[in-house]
Amino acid sequence: MTPVLFERLLIIGAGLIGSSIARAVRERRLVRTLVVADQDPAVCARVRELGFADEVTGNAAEAAREADLIIVCVPVGAMGAVAAQIGPQLKPGAILSDVGSVKGAVMSVMAPHVPAHAHLIPAHPVAGTECSGPDAGFATLFENRWCIITPPEGADETAVERLSSLWRAMGADVEVMDLRRHDLVLAITSHLPHLIAYNIVGTAADLEEDMASEVIKYSAGGFRDFTRIAASDPTMWRDIFLYNREAVLEMLGRFTEDLTALQRAIRYGDGEKLFDHFTRTRAIRRSIIEMGQETDAPDFGRLAAEKPRHEQS
Ligand code: NAP
Repeated sequence: MTPVLFERLLIIGAGLIGSSIARAVRERRLVRTLVVADQDPAVCARVRELGFADEVTGNAAEAAREADLIIVCVPVGAMGAVAAQIGPQLKPGAILSDVGSVKGAVMSVMAPHVPAHAHLIPAHPVAGTECSGPDAGFATLFENRWCIITPPEGADETAVERLSSLWRAMGADVEVMDLRRHDLVLAITSHLPHLIAYNIVGTAADLEEDMASEVIKYSAGGFRDFTRIAASDPTMWRDIFLYNREAVLEMLGRFTEDLTALQRAIRYGDGEKLFDHFTRTRAIRRSIIEMGQETDAPDFGRLAAEKPRHEQS
C-alpha cells in the first residue's frame, strides 16, 4: 500500500477534477486529512452527502492555513482570485498547485500572491470528460493519463517530486514540461479540437429547421462525437480560449492554411493529395492507440448493446 504522502490536502473547487482527485486520494488513502472547499454552498452540501472528504468548508482562506498541499481546481479565470485569497495564509513549506488547462496565464496570475516561504508548482492532468460538478468525478479518472507538471525556474525539487508522487499514486504518468511548450502542445491537441467541435455543432444548429433535425437523426456519422466535445463546460472553455489566446491563434492560423489546402484539393479533384493526407492521419491514430491513449475497438469501444436501436446493424 502507498504510504501517506501528505498530512493535510486542501482541494479548492469540487467539480469534475477536484472531486476526482478527492475520490482517488481517499480510495488509496494518500493523505491523512482531506479538506474540500467550494464557493457554492449547494456544492459543499453535495460533497458532504457524497462523503468523499474529511472536512468541507466554504472558507478556502481559513482552510489553507494548515494545509501542506493545496490543489486549486476552479476555472482558469478564477485562479488569480483564489490565489489572492489563500496566498497570505500559506504556511512555510506549503505546496500550492492547480489543475488548470492553461499554464502560462495561471502561473502569471497566481505567482504574485505566493509568499517566498511556499512553493508554487502548477500541474495539468490531461484527463477529463464533458461533465461537471461533484457528481461527475470518479477515482479512476487519472489512471494511465498524463499529468504535466510545469515548475517555474528554480522550483524546489523536493516539492516537485512530492507533487509528482501524489499524481503517480493516483495512477497518472507524470511529465515535467516548460509551461510555454505545454500551452502550445495543448492548443493543438485539446483547445483547437474543442473550438472545431463548438464551431461545427453551432453551424449545424444554424441550418434551416428541417435540415437540422436530419442532422440529429443521422448524427452517428461522425457528428455525434463532435457533439460530445461541444457539450463541455462553457465557463471552463471560455476561460481556456481567453487565457491561451496566443497559442490558440498560432495553431488556428496553421489549421486554417492546411484546411485551405484540402479545400483546394477537393475543388481541383486532386484525389492523390487527399488520399496521401488521409493515409498519414490514419497512421497517427495508430500511434496514439499503440501509446495506450485510445482504444482500438471500433466506434471508440461503444458496445452495440449501449447504442440506440436504430444505430445497431
Ligand atoms: P467544474 O466541474 O465546473 O468545477 C469547478 C468548481 O469550482 C465548481 O464547483 C465551481 O463552483 C468552483 N469554483 C469556481 N470558482 C471558485 C472559487 N473562486 N472558489 C471556490 N470554488 C470555485 O470544473 P472542472 O471540469 O473540474 O475544471 C476545473 C479546472 O480543471 C479548470 O481549471 C479546468 O481548466 C481544469 N481541467 C478540466 C478538465 C476537464 O476535462 N473538465 C481536464 C483537465 C483540467 P461554481 O459552480 O459555483 O462556479
